[in-house]
Order: sequence, then C-alpha cells, then structure tokens
Amino acid sequence: MSQNIPLTTTAGAPVSDNQNAITAGERGPVLLQDYQLIEKLAHQNRERIPERVVHAKGWGAFGTLTITNDISKYSRASIFAEIGKQTEVIARFSTVAGELGAADHERDVRGFALKFYTDEGNWDMVGNNTPVFFLRDPYKFPDFIHTQKRHPKTNLRSPTAMWDYWSLSPEALHQVTILMSDRGLPISPMHMNGYGSHTYSLWNNDGERFWVKFHFKNLQGHEFYTNEEAAQVVGKTREGYQEALFGAIENGDYPKWKMCIQVIGEDDIEDMNFNPFDLTKVWPHGDYPLIEVGIMELNRNPENYFAEIEQAAFSPSNIVPGIGFSPDKVLQSRIFSYADAHRYRLGTHYEALPVNRPKCPVHHYHKDGLMNFFGHSTSEIDAYYEPNSFNGPKETSSVKEPPLKISGDASRFDHRDGNDDYSQPRALHNLMNSNQKARLYKNTAEAMNGVPQDIIDRVLGHYDKISPDYGNGIRKALNALAG
Ligand code: NDP
Repeated sequence: MSQNIPLTTTAGAPVSDNQNAITAGERGPVLLQDYQLIEKLAHQNRERIPERVVHAKGWGAFGTLTITNDISKYSRASIFAEIGKQTEVIARFSTVAGELGAADHERDVRGFALKFYTDEGNWDMVGNNTPVFFLRDPYKFPDFIHTQKRHPKTNLRSPTAMWDYWSLSPEALHQVTILMSDRGLPISPMHMNGYGSHTYSLWNNDGERFWVKFHFKNLQGHEFYTNEEAAQVVGKTREGYQEALFGAIENGDYPKWKMCIQVIGEDDIEDMNFNPFDLTKVWPHGDYPLIEVGIMELNRNPENYFAEIEQAAFSPSNIVPGIGFSPDKVLQSRIFSYADAHRYRLGTHYEALPVNRPKCPVHHYHKDGLMNFFGHSTSEIDAYYEPNSFNGPKETSSVKEPPLKISGDASRFDHRDGNDDYSQPRALHNLMNSNQKARLYKNTAEAMNGVPQDIIDRVLGHYDKISPDYGNGIRKALNALAG
C-alpha cells in the first residue's frame, strides 16, 4: 500500500515544491530566499568525506563470532567466556592502495578489519589477509605508502618507486612474495584468510600474560585469479567484491572463517631465534600450533553503505580486558594513528556513531565538542567531572592489566641490523608447487614493467639470497616478457 510520506526540510517543515525554484518571473533569476534550494545544494556539496588514505575501497557486513573452544586459561576477555557464546561483529575488507573508485580485482594486500561488540567494550582486530607486513619500523610506513600511491608529477602509480623502495628494504620481500603469489589476488573477500599480523597479548584472571597471533582461516577455500583473468573481470565489473559479498549474504550463503590463535608464554620468547614482535615474521606453525577459538559467520548486509561501512572506524587501540598490546613497534604506532585518522575523517565523536557505538553501556567524562549528540552518559547530571560525590562513573580496578614488562635502553636501534630477512620467504617459496612458483615469477616480472635495470638487478640480488631458484625464475620470466 502506498503511503503518503511528506517531504520535509532538515528542520522538519513540509516542502511545498521540490521541482521548481522560486524565481522573479518565469525566466528567473532565482531568489536567495529559496532556502530549500540552498539547503539541497549545500547538502550535495557536503556528501563526501575524506576517503581513507589507505584502504579506501572496502566491502563489509555484519555477523557473529561463536566460541567453539575454551581459551579462558589464556584470556579473561568476556568474548571468550564460554563455549557457545556469540558476539556480534562487523567486518570490513578492503584493498590498500586503490582509491574509492578503484577496481576490486587488483593485485594488492587486502585489509581484514573486525569490530567485535563485546559486553566489555569494542574489540577491533584491524588486520590484513597476510600474516606479515612490508616493514617492521613505523618510520617507514608513510614512505612505503607513498610508493604505492600516485607519483606527484605523473599522477600515475609508479612501479619504479615500488621496486626502488623494496630493493632498499629487504624486510619487505616476505610480504612481496605473498603479494605476487596466488594469495595476492583472491576472487572475493570470502576466499581469503585474515590475520591479526601483529603479536598481541592475552591475559587471564590470574594476571598471567601470553603472547598471541590471531588467524581467521576462511572455510570457503582459497581461490584466486591470475592477472589475465582479473583483467577480464575488471573489464566487465569494477565492483566484483561488493557484488560477491553482498550477493552471497542476500542469498543466505553466509561466509565463515575459523578463528584460531597461536600462543607463547610470556617468558618463553627468550628461546626464539627471531624477534617475536617483528611484523615481517610469522610464528612457524610447526613450533606454535594453531588453537581453535571459534567460528565467525557474516550473515547481515548493511542497510546503508555510507553510514555503516564508510563510517565504520576500526582501531587497534580498541582492546578489552583480557586482550593487550605487545612491544611490536608498528602496532604501537597504529594505536595512535588509526584513532587519529578517524578523528580527522569522521570527527571527535566518531565512536558514538551507530555503527561504532558499543552495545554495552558507555560512561565517560568527555564533554561537548563538534557534533556531540549523545548528551549525558548517566542520569547523574552533577557528575560531570571526576572524582565527584554525585555517583558518577568510577574506574574498575579488577580489570587492571598485568604490567607489560619492558627492558633495555631507550635509543634508536637499526631495525635492519642483524635481521634474517630471507629464511621465512624461503620457507614460503619452498612450500609452493611448480605451477604456483611459475605464477609467482610471472606476476613479479609483470609488476616490474618499466623499472630501470639497476633497480631490478638490486632486487634480484635479494631474491637470489632467498633462493637462487627464485631469482632465476624471475629472470627467466622477465626474459620471456621481453620476448
Ligand atoms: P606451514 O607449512 O605450517 O604453514 C604454511 C602456511 O602457508 C599455511 O598456513 C598456508 O595457509 C600458507 N600458505 C600457503 N601458500 C601460501 C601463499 N601463496 N601465500 C601465503 N601463505 C601461503 O609452514 P610455516 O608455519 O613454517 O610457515 C612457512 C611459511 O608459510 C612462512 O614463512 C610464511 O611465509 C607462510 N605462512 C605462515 C603462516 C604462519 O602463521 N605460520 C601463515 C601464513 C603463511 P593455509 O593453511 O591457510 O592454506
């Protein structure tokens, strides 16, 4: 049945005419007093907000995490409290380098950001579809991202910049190997794993801390496109991921991931022969087996893409009692920079937007500010400072985290000095079969199109150190492309 819903101004007054401007005579001009026209045009001018500097193009949905295994001996986090416990989650997947209008099927790392609305606050796991990253020191992040974005003069992506940077940053080649492998171009967000990538920590009710890595293994299976297949897909649609994820959920074909953790006792890292907080390294499964935690299922599409996905704000700073940080330098920098980015993009009160708002009660003493729409956080209106005698919110000492033990001199340590950047990419190269290797070499060679020979030679020197087969495989692929 059709309803007669009156069109109104933003102030709620009924609009008499949404077709014709108020003019002085039939031919115009328009009168400035047509404030409804001004409001309409002014709103259109303000429809866009700054896109994310990285991870601009994204796709997301809501769902649940259901706990299937008891890990309460490692963590007191309420999300893990009992087998069968369900917690609502929003997931946002993304490419890294492309802008908002970029094609979905580009070879790139994918963001894998999760916000769990736990009953002790929101826990965000802002990861990628890769277990490692291109760098281990936060000083390098803006430089690295500049190489992935557009050249300041040509306004084009620059393979020269990418390979120049990588040739001077051997710690990147583990991640570059994943990027150029089949995992660098999944057919949809549902066909890739998610990883927390950083080392985080868990702590239990006895105040014991454990180091942890988070894994989300996709249950749809890994599927990928070759560069040629992706070019064909992009020729038909630039929105393939949005279509696939939205369509699957509309059809009731709910994608699932198995959440697992790897755990190391707080003091057991002393025996490791690499820095367990180095973001360019995995913890080998053979030494640190995966422990199942639960199943994540995505089963609800957003009703409004802009409100719920574009404004979804994930930050590694959002942890909850029972989950903690680690000394990982890049994690430490992201704790600052993600929340900072959201304050810039969305405003001071971005956590109060419906998609970001916790499902549990929120009581704080932050006041006022641009676009404050939430009023008092308790009914005790005299309790607007702390301490107070008016029954205002108080801290909960029982959720105090055990101390994070640190040692050593405060200094600038050379993050490249003495690091083995070759063994782990070698292990990955070794586990690929000959077809996977052939595609790895070809994808790498194709990505080097137009790069000066001295830069290619420098990077091949690193590939030779990973494995002479790897370096020679790329050389042969480059020769084949040169024809
Ligand atoms: P394992 O053989 O126990 O594990 C290998 C892992 O590699 C599997 O988890 C598999 O993921 C994943 N894998 C397979 N092909 C690719 C690819 N093309 N790109 C990225 N990942 C792939 O060995 P280790 O744990 O000793 O690790 C060996 C190497 O495997 C590492 O150096 C690292 O590059 C890679 N890797 C390791 C992970 C870890 O956390 N240990 C996680 C992911 C990759 P799946 O089982 O989901 O198919």
